[in-house]
Amino acid sequence: MDAQTILNARTDLLWIVERWPRLQARLEGGGGNALTGMPSGSNEAPLPIDVAVSDLMREIEDQARFYAAVLLDEVPPEHGCDGRCVKTWLATATEATKADQPVPDAPSSWDCPDRRDPITTSTMPALLGQVAERYGHFTQDEREALDFCDEAHDFRERVRKTLERPAPPTYVGPCRARGADGAGCSGELYVREGRERGTCRECGTEFTRDEQLTYVRDALEERLMTPTEIVRALKIVGHEVKPGTVFKWVQREKLEEVVDGLYRLTDALDLAERYGRKQKAA
Ligand SMILES: [Zn+2]
Ligand SMILES: [Zn+2]
Repeated sequence: MDAQTILNARTDLLWIVERWPRLQARLEGGGGNALTGMPSGSNEAPLPIDVAVSDLMREIEDQARFYAAVLLDEVPPEHGCDGRCVKTWLATATEATKADQPVPDAPSSWDCPDRRDPITTSTMPALLGQVAERYGHFTQDEREALDFCDEAHDFRERVRKTLERPAPPTYVGPCRARGADGAGCSGELYVREGRERGTCRECGTEFTRDEQLTYVRDALEERLMTPTEIVRALKIVGHEVKPGTVFKWVQREKLEEVVDGLYRLTDALDLAERYGRKQKAA
């Protein structure tokens, strides 16, 4: 195994570290969040998070934790004191010798007050960064080196492909255009990541994200929805409220049941607005 290939493994892992925030953004990111119970009735609502992205992130994180555990197990810590603890010991030892007293043991790196463990964080992506810097530990044995480098390369390729895939567009409700005969357009509208406007694929009518949000909001306000639908509806109108929060509102009866497990979106909007203000104030 040549030195360049081994160094590439470090580069690959650090490359992933740098892009971790983008993976995170992609995880929660744009679109796929179609809404059930919309006025024109869009069908199946995909999961609000991108499962492929979360699986890849989980896999990388598990592997980073595995390597970190190996390092903590096999690599002794270093002095982080710049030799101060040994100097202090030397002085004590000299005194002891002069006084004909027993000399204490020299401090090992384990005793160092500023001891530096091979891994000092458990948080991603910093954890992966520390593993990358210790690539030498995993590349001494030929066989192990091969696995380590292959894996780093494979992870990098998968992250690259994931990030190159365009983010799914965000659903912003049905088209509001009406034909000459007064019939409503059946188009469903989506906006691409980072865009503020789009065109209906059915009738060519242009729309802006803001107009759609106002419309969706008005159209949905009096609707009854399940808690899951409420989470999605809130997201469409710009309230990022976690599913757990909505379920808590239900549990604590802050969100009042109207009929059989259905709740009024207007009530949820009020709570979301108050909740949003509290978050900002905090
Ligand atoms: Zn020390
Ligand atoms: Zn249309």
